[in-house]
Amino acid sequence: MFNAARPAPERAELLDWVRLRLRAEYGEKPLRPRREPLHELISTILSQRTTHADEEAAYQELRALGDWDAIIAAPTEAVAHAIRRSNYPESKAPRIQETLRRIRDAPGGYDLNFLREMPVKDALKWLTDLPGVGVKTASLVLLFNYARPVFPVDTHVHRVSSRVGVIPRMGEQAAHRALLSLLPPDPPLLYDLHINFLAHGRKVCTWTHPRCGVCILRERCDAFALYGDHVPSFSETK
Ligand code: SF4
Repeated sequence: MFNAARPAPERAELLDWVRLRLRAEYGEKPLRPRREPLHELISTILSQRTTHADEEAAYQELRALGDWDAIIAAPTEAVAHAIRRSNYPESKAPRIQETLRRIRDAPGGYDLNFLREMPVKDALKWLTDLPGVGVKTASLVLLFNYARPVFPVDTHVHRVSSRVGVIPRMGEQAAHRALLSLLPPDPPLLYDLHINFLAHGRKVCTWTHPRCGVCILRERCDAFALYGDHVPSFSETK
């Protein structure tokens, strides 16, 4: 039987095995914020369908416009120009300005520290109500900056976990809930697993031509069991 068809407790055991394998391969990743909460939030919006280098360049040019107030007040075309290295700058620019405006007008202003105490469900809703902020972005901010027990699912987490069969095929959005339901509410563990999934997705279980021959997850991977050394591009896998 393929992993994806197994009951949840068996897939939870599989996910824990994956976690330990990845940690043995890539090392344990201590949970510490990589950047300020608002920086994380805006950068993650810029990162959508964009390489890391272009996201960084777009963020730096955006900040060159001035402080957050200045970015809100700038013409939207100027914001779109500043973030042109990010894909879809014309749609991201007004969303970023509106997101910053709403945050500025919230009780804490630009200080998002209230998210540390707010119930997780409410914090997710508060963040995802902002324009351009989806569940992935909200989860990243809550886990990375506030050590809240959520599990961000990006393209790498989604691809590797789907191929192994930890979860059946579903969209990235739905995978947040499905994967979290198999994991303990332990932020350091969730962070470590998220970062190591990324490493594996970038280095081995790539979008096209995954390197199954050197993969440490091969012995329990659904995709490898089905396709052997010829696992197709992720979009082609059904
Ligand atoms: S065996 Fe292949 S498809 Fe499975 S996780 Fe490893 S690289 Fe990805």
